[in-house]
Amino acid sequence: MDFLFKEEQRELKEKVISLCKEKLAPLEEKVGESKVMSREIADVLAESGLFKLFVPAKYGNTTKMPSLVSVCLVREELARRCPNAELIFVMQGLGSYPIVLSGSEELQAKYCPLIASGEKIFTICLTEPNAGSDVGAIETTAVEEKDLWVLNGQKIFTSLAPDADIYTVFAKTDPDKGTRGISAFVVEKGWEGFDPGKRMDLMAAHPIGAPVFKDCSVPKKNLVGELNAGFKVSMRNLDFFRSTVGAAAVGMAQAALDEAVSYAKGRFQFGKSIAEFQSIQFKLADMATELTASRALVFRAAYIKDQGVERITLESSMAKLYATEAAWRIIDEALQIHGGYGVIKGQHVERLYREIRALRVYEGTSEIQRLVIGNMLLKA
Ligand SMILES: Cc1cc2nc3c(=O)[nH]c(=O)nc-3n(C[C@H](O)[C@H](O)[C@H](O)COP(=O)(O)OP(=O)(O)OC[C@H]3O[C@@H](n4cnc5c(N)ncnc54)[C@H](O)[C@@H]3O)c2cc1C
Repeated sequence: MDFLFKEEQRELKEKVISLCKEKLAPLEEKVGESKVMSREIADVLAESGLFKLFVPAKYGNTTKMPSLVSVCLVREELARRCPNAELIFVMQGLGSYPIVLSGSEELQAKYCPLIASGEKIFTICLTEPNAGSDVGAIETTAVEEKDLWVLNGQKIFTSLAPDADIYTVFAKTDPDKGTRGISAFVVEKGWEGFDPGKRMDLMAAHPIGAPVFKDCSVPKKNLVGELNAGFKVSMRNLDFFRSTVGAAAVGMAQAALDEAVSYAKGRFQFGKSIAEFQSIQFKLADMATELTASRALVFRAAYIKDQGVERITLESSMAKLYATEAAWRIIDEALQIHGGYGVIKGQHVERLYREIRALRVYEGTSEIQRLVIGNMLLKA
């Protein structure tokens, strides 16, 4: 796909590959699979300047607004090599994009320098115990009191909680109005009434928790965008970041394909390398073809966004759906090619096999993507 990219984007890709090899790989080795966010890795990302990709030009980006092609390029390369770094990188964007997209000038002036420098790490709290796919069902409330908003409620599945510093939180400001009664707020760790919550234990280690708000006072100015426009804010955020989930899937699938090719060449059975068996070659061929199709869908969506198109709902849903489902199949086949060695704990393909699973669930399940795509086709 390199022919699609601008010179500076090719350089960005090379920069990320070098960063992974020289600085991040040793830290990834040290951290391993961890439920705790590594500050050391966050600091390396901050020093590298990659977080500047998430802010407008005024605050240090080289493009007027965040470029989706650049973010996808970085996420793919990090997912291929450095999973802890990849999660921190994307949460910095996902957690802060509502501010960049819809925040007041005052809010942007306060938070954009912190996003760009990595001085603070951001995340997003949308999901609740009774509200996952059905965002309109959230029960967390924000009630206006003098010059404050007072938040009460329970969140769940907040990536990087409780380690992240700043949380973009969605709450009901008009509980009778469903999705039309939701607003977004910026909440800082340490504020009274905000407990960043207990850690959760997933099948593949992922720093993630369940924050709680008990009479948490938030300054009025920390409302992001217009009152009761939070659903729109979250959907525009997902529009942008869903393609990047596809990019992460592509990176993970590429890692699995590389492992499979290398293993197939070096594993001998029946007097020859298993790569010489046509059934193994057919598997590799299907894996590579699906991977290329995934990458094309991801960068197609990203390219369209970077042309200034406001909403890319259809393109990003297709990219996320196809790339995450394909990556799951590709990684499964890579494990199959490894035979019994593929299921040994600590094998790279074994870790990928567990890690890929969540991508078909978060930022909209595959079923929800199909629903979005189907609805848009029927509306057209
Ligand atoms: C690793 C990980 C990280 C996450 N990080 C974050 C985060 O940082 N911040 C955050 O806010 N959330 C986060 N999430 C939450 C994630 O976005 C939700 O898990 C996801 O939206 C699905 O919600 P749910 O788990 O409640 O499932 P449910 O919505 O209860 O869905 C259960 C099943 O029903 C299906 N289903 C639901 N509705 C429909 C429908 N209308 N038609 C057909 N099928 C349907 C779903 O597809 C799914 O198969 C994360 C989740 C994971 C696993």
